[in-house]
Order: sequence, then structure tokens, then C-alpha cells
Amino acid sequence: MTQMHKLYYEKRANILIKNLKSRHFDAYYCPTKEDALKKALELIPEESTVGWGGVMSAHQIGLVEALHQGNYHPIDRDRLTTPEEKLQAAKDSMFADVFLTGANALSLDGEMVNIDGTGNRVAAIVYGPKEVLVIAGMNKVSDTLEDAITRARTVAAPLNQQRFGLNNPCTATGTCADCKSETCICNQILITRHCRPVGRIKFILVGEDLGL
Ligand code: SF4
Repeated sequence: MTQMHKLYYEKRANILIKNLKSRHFDAYYCPTKEDALKKALELIPEESTVGWGGVMSAHQIGLVEALHQGNYHPIDRDRLTTPEEKLQAAKDSMFADVFLTGANALSLDGEMVNIDGTGNRVAAIVYGPKEVLVIAGMNKVSDTLEDAITRARTVAAPLNQQRFGLNNPCTATGTCADCKSETCICNQILITRHCRPVGRIKFILVGEDLGL
């Protein structure tokens, strides 16, 4: 990360935080992964039940491991084995005190875009958990909502497919074909434009490149 990148991210974060707050989200800027981990642990009360979905960025700042090590009640599907257990964990996450997630893209004026295959992640963002904590690298920020949707559909989703390796067109080509495959991961596209109750959704914006 060059000094130019740091300044660029910091200046854009100042604009974004002002716009997120105008939409009644809470938002914080942390220049480094270490700062972001500290802030996240300040925001998640001990003893909380914490569920999650789409948390590559939370893994990268060390938050998932810290929750397992600390005085929390994590609901971690990755540590379960059977499909039944994983399904139950996804349902239990809907009643968590805190739901952790990332953003596929954000617009500079404070709207968040997320794409989901199963739908549990976007469902929890919309309703259910008492609080939602979004960990997002500043690489996720696009200038406009239209650009953010384009990023989510043509960058984040095809990149995710390289991870999942499902038999969809973007797995082979790296570009979105707007497919109707049975295994399509782009079944739900959520735009979160405003927060009610006030402060239910909190953002930790990180001045480093995180996630996909
Ligand atoms: S090709 Fe299908 S699965 Fe791949 S990004 Fe496009 S809509 Fe999503």
C-alpha cells in the first residue's frame, strides 16, 4: 500500500462516512487491518451470539479467529460437518445478536450492494439479527450506485465463482454472462440504501484492499 493509496482511501472514506451517517448507518474508518480488528471487538459486546455470511474480509483482519478465541458465541458453519447442521446454523444466525458480513460494493454516496446465491446473507442484512457489522476494504467503493452494481456483478461475483468452481459461465471465462444456470450464485441482488432502526447496520471501512 503506497502513501498515495493511503491518502486516497482516507479522503474517500471521509466522504463515504458522512454519506453513510446521513442514511442512519454507523460508520468508522480504520487505516489498517489491526485497527479494524480492535474497532470490531469494541463494537461486539462479549457474550454476544455472532453469526456470519460472506466474511472473507472479517477473516483477513483476524476477527473470525478472535471471536473463536474470545468470550463470544460464534455460529460458524465452516466448523460444522453435515448439511443439516450447516442449514440450522444459517437459520440460527437470523437470531444472532450480531451478524457479520462484507460488502460486494459500496457507492460513495452510501449505498451497499450485495449478491447472494442461497439468500441467507442478504436476508440477515435486511431483517433478523439485532445488529449487522459490515467489514469492507476501501477497494469496494465505487463512485456511483450504477458503478457499484457493475462491480458486484462483473467483478465480485465472477471472482467468487473462481473460489466456488461451480459449473457457471463465469467460472470458465471470468466474465458475467447474466446466466440462468441452476447453480447460479447471483440469485438475489440487494441494495441497502438506508438503515432502520438507526445504527442497526454498522460499517468498518478499512484502508486496505480486502475481500473480492
Ligand atoms: S455468469 Fe451467472 S453465476 Fe456468473 S456472475 Fe454472471 S449471473 Fe453470476
